[in-house]
This record gives sequence, structure tokens and C-alpha cells, in this order.
Amino acid sequence: MKATVNEDLCIGCESCVDICPDVFEMQDEFVVCRFDDEIPPEFEEACREAAESCPVEAIAIED
Ligand code: SF4
Repeated sequence: MKATVNEDLCIGCESCVDICPDVFEMQDEFVVCRFDDEIPPEFEEACREAAESCPVEAIAIED
């Protein structure tokens, strides 16, 4: 599974960081995914939850 954050959409609310800090981190005023490639399986569930929590649907999940 991969996750990408669309910086044009992200409003920096940090909801995803609160839910899944292992995968998402703030960089300046936007969030980035820590993993360019596959997200470790143990983080997948929280990562999906974080994507669903995003108020502007800026997080794309690719299975
Ligand atoms: S939840 Fe969405 S809008 Fe909020 S910081 Fe994360 S990616 Fe950005």
C-alpha cells in the first residue's frame, strides 16, 4: 500500500498526523507521507483511518 498527500489540497489541519504519526508528518505548513514506497503493514490500518479523516480528501491510498 502507498499513500500520497496532495499538497494543493492539504490545509494543514494535522488530523492525519494525530491519527497516524508513523506515516504522516508536518513539513512547513503541509503534511507529507514518510514513505515513498510501500507503507509497512503494521501502519496500514491507521493510515487508512487517517485518509478517511482528512476533511479535504487530500490523501490518496493506492493498494
Ligand atoms: S488530514 Fe488532510 S488536510 Fe489535514 S493535514 Fe492531513 S492531509 Fe492535510
